[in-house]
Amino acid sequence: MGKIVVFGSYVTDLTGWAGHLPVPGETVIGSSFKMGPGGKGSNQAVAAHRAGADMKIITKVGDDVFGREAIDFYMKEGMDTDMVFIDKEKETGSALIMVDEITGQNSILVTSGACGNITDSDIEKARPYIEQAEILLLQFEINLDALYKIIDIAHAAGVRVVLNPAPAMEIDESILCKVDVVTPNEVEAAILTGIKEVVDMESATRAARVFFQKGVGAVVITMGKAGVFVMQGEEARFVKSRSVKAVDTTGAGDAFNGGFVTALSEEKDIFAAVEFGNVVGALSVTKKGTAPSMPRREEIDRML
Ligand code: ADP
Repeated sequence: MGKIVVFGSYVTDLTGWAGHLPVPGETVIGSSFKMGPGGKGSNQAVAAHRAGADMKIITKVGDDVFGREAIDFYMKEGMDTDMVFIDKEKETGSALIMVDEITGQNSILVTSGACGNITDSDIEKARPYIEQAEILLLQFEINLDALYKIIDIAHAAGVRVVLNPAPAMEIDESILCKVDVVTPNEVEAAILTGIKEVVDMESATRAARVFFQKGVGAVVITMGKAGVFVMQGEEARFVKSRSVKAVDTTGAGDAFNGGFVTALSEEKDIFAAVEFGNVVGALSVTKKGTAPSMPRREEIDRML
């Protein structure tokens, strides 16, 4: 069944590197290309799985070559694929990523495709897994009408809801009172709370209080290489990041979230779970890529 259920997106990352990014109308000959599994939901699920969690992924892909790649990838990872829905009409979500290899800047065009088309019938099929989970982990890369229904089901069943509110977007804030832990990065925290800059313990504490007013149970704000802020009740802490040589920070937030819920599912308290997620996030930036850069449990335990 899975102690942790991740209900989220799968997106095929199509990344090309070039000496400069094309301007509108320009064609640039690039130097290299890589295709890989991505999407916040999928990346977080892979991070949890590799960290040793009893985990189930629920996602949706198209009936196309990218969708088949997704299923192949999960099978190679040893993950269950029976809750990977296949959309007969919509294509698999994709991210067209162009990277300037000199500056590292990128331009990204994401189409959510199948994972933006979660239907009521998909939700009904998923319902038993959601209701029997201990923890449900969600993000904003699936259609929001479905997200709200899924949160309602989990909340009614007493499942602990962890929401990674990414990418930042306008939502119906009334759902936040059904969220046990919210895990934005500093940019998402600023947008969702209206606190201009969430940059330190003081501003993060103010942002956390806004989340508490909206009914969220506990607040975790990831702050890149600075570390992670966590507040539960009146207790706030800042966990400094682990010092590593960063090669590629894409997917660090996904790694953190996967690690964080894994530790929660092992009965660790929220502060210990943040320490664990912090290590998973740090290890993920030492390798290129998103899902393929997620560390395995042995590596995590060595750094803890
Ligand atoms: P996102 O990818 O969502 O923007 P962050 O950049 O905040 O997320 O990264 C998530 C977490 O990953 C951080 O809170 C930290 O624990 C870890 N992390 C990210 N970048 C680094 C880094 N350069 N060195 C060490 N840890 C990092």
